[in-house]
Amino acid sequence: MNRRSVALGVAVLAVVMLMCGGTVVLPLVMFGQAQAEAAACELPSLPGASPVPGAGGWGSAETTHAATIVAVGRQRQVPPRGYVIALATAMQESTLRNLANANVPESLTLPHEGVGRDHDSVGLFQQRPGWGSVRERMTPTYAAGKFYEALLRVDGWQRMRLTDAAQAVQRSGYPEEYQKWEDDAEQLAALVLGLPSIDDIGGGAPTAPCGIDDLGPVPVGPGGWVQPIRASIVSGFGPRGGRLHAGVDLSQADVRGDAIRAASTGVVEQVKCDWYTTCDRDGNTSQRGCGWYVDIRHPGNIVTRYCHMIQRPEVSIGQQVTAGTVIGFVGNSGGSSGPHLHFEVHVNVPKGPHHANGSNAVDPVPFMRARGAPLGAGT
Ligand SMILES: [Zn+2]
Repeated sequence: MNRRSVALGVAVLAVVMLMCGGTVVLPLVMFGQAQAEAAACELPSLPGASPVPGAGGWGSAETTHAATIVAVGRQRQVPPRGYVIALATAMQESTLRNLANANVPESLTLPHEGVGRDHDSVGLFQQRPGWGSVRERMTPTYAAGKFYEALLRVDGWQRMRLTDAAQAVQRSGYPEEYQKWEDDAEQLAALVLGLPSIDDIGGGAPTAPCGIDDLGPVPVGPGGWVQPIRASIVSGFGPRGGRLHAGVDLSQADVRGDAIRAASTGVVEQVKCDWYTTCDRDGNTSQRGCGWYVDIRHPGNIVTRYCHMIQRPEVSIGQQVTAGTVIGFVGNSGGSSGPHLHFEVHVNVPKGPHHANGSNAVDPVPFMRARGAPLGAGT
């Protein structure tokens, strides 16, 4: 056996051992050196002085500020939930107007859309002097940037109620008041991004430099099916350690954070954390469990399952999805020995959310091939 085939043999063995519910934990070096990823997208530039038309019941000035707040968030690669929190905060603090303050004479000499008188707070976020000079705090890009900086320092902000995250930054005397703006903020964030709804923004890939813009459309096969992710099959369907490995494991270098797509049109039937503690961290293989997962029911009593997501999935139960809808991101939650997608296909599944199981699982490889969307990285 020459040197090359020895290396190959080791690689194949290692790949086969990467699996959900297995007992062998292997480091990620099994995939070889991770390729340095080129920056695949350009960050958006900040909007100029030109105002944008009003949207969502807000005037032009307010919508222009909203667009600025979102643009600053995108440029700083803040996950979209951050835009919503920032917008709701500015809605509460200033109704999205750049406010001067009657107690701060300098502020009255700068461009403003109203005059408040709360202590020495100015600007969209009603920031006090500790946040910067008067001029800085009344510059929307600066004010928004400082807000995001503080937000990103709040541990677990993405999983908090909106008002709790906003309050952790603002320390307001009225900590509950941000919450009522959540719907308006979601709607306005979508509008200024030119998207029909907040669901199209999703959570943003944790590792994607440009959030949703990285995700793009995918080609749908002639059968109306798409690959859930484009990655190698590292472990197949079949018996494993005395039980059925009821799906295939898909992975590759740097797969963590990659978007997972609905394989075809359907309705989300299950969104759940299947693990004994939390799914918001890497799991291990000491127990079985799907981690953060989604089940989708497709026409014809077919159910597809997607396991081990990195964070709470981007869809909710009852949501209609189409082929290619981003439903979550690849992770390592639950009974998993490394970042991968465990993908299952179930057929002839009786109605109801708990009927996809080993008895109706089929090998996803021939199933997807027959539908014009073969699994694997080379297709
Ligand atoms: Zn698996």
